[in-house]
Amino acid sequence: MHLETRILVTGGAGFLGSHLCERLLSEGAEVLCLDNYFTGTRRNIEHLLGRRQFELIRHDVTFPLYVEVDEIYNLACPASPIHYQHDPVQTTKTSVHGAINMLGLAKRLRAKILQASTSEIYGSPTVHPQTEDYWGNVNCIGPRSCYDEGKRCAETLFFDYWRQHSLRIKVARIFNTYGPRMHPNDGRVVSNFIVQALLGRDITIYGDGSQTRAFCYVDDLIDGLMRLMRSPDEVTGPLNLGNPQEITMLELAAAIVELTGTRSKLSYQPLPKDDPQQRRPDISRARQLLKWEPCTPLRQGLAETIRYFDELLKVADVRHSLTRDE
Ligand code: NAD
Ligand code: UDP
Repeated sequence: MHLETRILVTGGAGFLGSHLCERLLSEGAEVLCLDNYFTGTRRNIEHLLGRRQFELIRHDVTFPLYVEVDEIYNLACPASPIHYQHDPVQTTKTSVHGAINMLGLAKRLRAKILQASTSEIYGSPTVHPQTEDYWGNVNCIGPRSCYDEGKRCAETLFFDYWRQHSLRIKVARIFNTYGPRMHPNDGRVVSNFIVQALLGRDITIYGDGSQTRAFCYVDDLIDGLMRLMRSPDEVTGPLNLGNPQEITMLELAAAIVELTGTRSKLSYQPLPKDDPQQRRPDISRARQLLKWEPCTPLRQGLAETIRYFDELLKVADVRHSLTRDE
């Protein structure tokens, strides 16, 4: 990357986006962080605001944008089921209109563009672990469809712009990622379990807790995204990025109980509709093409994340928003 590379990060005030902005700045890029603060917060990027090479713009990607940049990371989209189901029509618009607007921008500028796609495009997979050539098993009319189908359509648009306009595209299929700056209220399993453990509340296991996921620490994931952006033009993806170490939700709960030393008990709740039973990435392609694989052990990543939430819960308004129903 040249020192003067100007990079647009949409969704830059969110969990992944804020870490990406930080890493790009530390490597000498000029960063234009765009967000409409639907799920992101200024708190996530407050420490970057005084940096000369950092600029912040409040904008909704469903509307066109005219700026001058060399690279675009398109991350804008609510990612947790609670958030993306809050306004499903807006979720589809963000994925689809957002992709059209950002691809149009990239086309005008001849800029390289990376899409933050998701393992959700595989739906409830019938192939395990998931390889990139698996087409998925997705319900198109269920509560998760706005996200899953929106992201699938965004991938279609990326590959059509590549075929039709020779745009330089990169598509990353991100699997469950966790770490500091996850939203404390987003209902995702790692943030839920940690916040519940720190507040001494029951830990909510959906279903019998035998369903599996594979969790990637945020630093590893950001490293993968940046390697993908810098890879040769013929590496378009889609590429799975995630940690192949698969665990059950019961095992995850046990690790968090142990690391926090909480006295919280487990409480079993109904399994949400269309909740995949198993998920684990096959990352052979990323290993081969990017020389990338996650290196942060789960317990180390969880300990960092627990430290973050422990500090966050000392912020009065955050604690109040999490405990006001008690
Ligand atoms: P996040 O909710 O923390 O970040 C998304 C950001 O996009 C937020 O700052 C939000 O305010 C912003 N945003 C939402 N709609 C917007 C709009 N219309 N215009 C402008 N900004 C908008 O989520 P995250 O975990 O950081 O996810 C970032 C991206 O990575 C998303 O596209 C998500 O689908 C993808 N992803 C994340 C994971 C994960 O485990 N975290 C897994 C798969 C894919
Ligand atoms: N889950 C759980 N308890 C919670 C939150 C989630 O048991 O408090 C389960 C959820 O049913 C799913 C898994 O944890 O099987 C991962 O959920 P998350 O929403 O984090 O991610 P996704 O389902 O999108 O992979």
